[in-house]
Amino acid sequence: MRLKVCCREQGNPALNLKKLYGAPTQLIVMELKAALLVIDMIKEFVTGRLGGAHAHAVVPNIKRLAETARRGGSPVVYVTDAHLMGVDHEFDVWGSHAVAGSDGAEMVPMLASMNGDHRLYKRRYSAFYATGLDALLRDLDVDTVVLTGVLTNICIQHTAADAFYRGYRVVVPTDCVNALTQEEQETSLAFMRRMYDAMLTDSVEAEEMLGEQR
Ligand code: ZN
Repeated sequence: MRLKVCCREQGNPALNLKKLYGAPTQLIVMELKAALLVIDMIKEFVTGRLGGAHAHAVVPNIKRLAETARRGGSPVVYVTDAHLMGVDHEFDVWGSHAVAGSDGAEMVPMLASMNGDHRLYKRRYSAFYATGLDALLRDLDVDTVVLTGVLTNICIQHTAADAFYRGYRVVVPTDCVNALTQEEQETSLAFMRRMYDAMLTDSVEAEEMLGEQR
């Protein structure tokens, strides 16, 4: 895939490729390899006790993005809650949810994985924590993660932090993530942009990133 990066002479020195390579314009096209991460779009968080309209709203956009990614040869990685009954301390905060092997821990049918997709399971908010995601992305030569799913201010934001710590570029299509309130959604998106240099975009633009043949 290709991602256009605006490069101004007085901008970020790390992006000042014009000085390094004598590029004639201010627009630099960098080759990036992106993966689509679909986080926690399981029954528990869409149709179950912790689900709701906020989660339903993003399902069609994520579905379209996943289809485009597959056509474009970009990896699609599902990382979803699969908690250990009676063990995981996250239950102290949210009550029992998304127990491994339960119906609630299954993907919603519209976002069922396809041949070639990857599926990982998590027991914490972050999709990177003790899941093998970092090793998978490195094996796939991925340097950019496109984050989708719920909730923006919890699992998406914690995943963005871990991605940033590990040197990945973070892209968030804002119509593919959601929180329980509009205020939480906007605050979290602004936080990720400020703290992790996350590129906020929409599903149409993200399709261009994931859909182009490499
Ligand atoms: Zn959980």
